[in-house]
Amino acid sequence: MRFKGEFALCRRVRAWALLLVALLLAGCNLPGPAPAASSTPPVTSTPSPTPPGAFDGQRAYEDAAAQVLGPNGSVRYRVPGTPGNDEAARIIADDLAALGWNVTWDRWNATYRCEPIEMHNVVAERAGTSGKVVILGAHYDTRPIAESDPDPANRTRPIPGANDGASGVAVLLELARSLPPTPDTVRLVFFDAEDGGDMGDGCTDWLLGSRHYAENMTLADRNRTKAMVLVDLVGDPHLRLPRELSTYVTAGRPVQDRIYSIAAGLGYAQFTNESRPGQTFSIEDDHQPFYQEQVPAVDLIHLVAEKTAFPEWHHTQHDDLSHVSAASLEAVGRVLDRWLVEGAQAGP
Ligand SMILES: [Zn+2]
Repeated sequence: MRFKGEFALCRRVRAWALLLVALLLAGCNLPGPAPAASSTPPVTSTPSPTPPGAFDGQRAYEDAAAQVLGPNGSVRYRVPGTPGNDEAARIIADDLAALGWNVTWDRWNATYRCEPIEMHNVVAERAGTSGKVVILGAHYDTRPIAESDPDPANRTRPIPGANDGASGVAVLLELARSLPPTPDTVRLVFFDAEDGGDMGDGCTDWLLGSRHYAENMTLADRNRTKAMVLVDLVGDPHLRLPRELSTYVTAGRPVQDRIYSIAAGLGYAQFTNESRPGQTFSIEDDHQPFYQEQVPAVDLIHLVAEKTAFPEWHHTQHDDLSHVSAASLEAVGRVLDRWLVEGAQAGP
């Protein structure tokens, strides 16, 4: 994602004026002790069902780790067009299929780093009864360069993307595991190729996966979609989620209102409710192609109240699992759980 502001250091400069005007307006099955008496019933291997509303931050953290780390414990970089990207998508798809979600692949060809590659979004859906759809999104790809790293030698290396990628994936996967029945159909979309812009190659852009997905939704599908909510950079131990500004000034605002109202009710102070420039920022992120296609869209993203908008680990080698907190993932997951179970309402 990129910061839409005049202080964009590594991002395209964007004017604030429009926004300012608008503002004015699996359970653990213990084997148990060996039965000593013949009357002891046998221990079954049936998994414990997850209780409703039991989004578990630690399990979500493990999902993030499964994205970031390969089988040998080394970092799995998920750069589009690489084996690590394919592996990450396959992990997501296999986990969701095992949980009973209807998984499909959204494949297309695109240019990335001046090379033609096949890209893939992973889509999973669970039917509700209302005839309406709610989309939750996260990007699973990771950035090929760490241009903000304090060490110049690291700036041409890919980032680990524990927050910038894996944290949002983790929230969606644990929701898929723990979400009680919801009135609306829930669709999870895992975007490829979010993080490829401003790399100096002249032929790669941001938001390729979300743009491909949103622009190819049918009119009927867009019309039955109540909202799209994006989770991005949501694992920081000091998570701070002010109201992202492009959400605040577009059709996602009533949904944002409702989500922040739920967060306040649950006591999750990570949702800071700030909405003024300087407290918060406008970010070009995977929600943007949706609101451009008239789908109300919300971005939940960690932003710091400084002119740089992004935390110090952003687009550096330090975006690793030490900057991912189970408690932060749980706060976001439980708020979304409540919102979805209540019917994904808009308004406070
Ligand atoms: Zn990024």
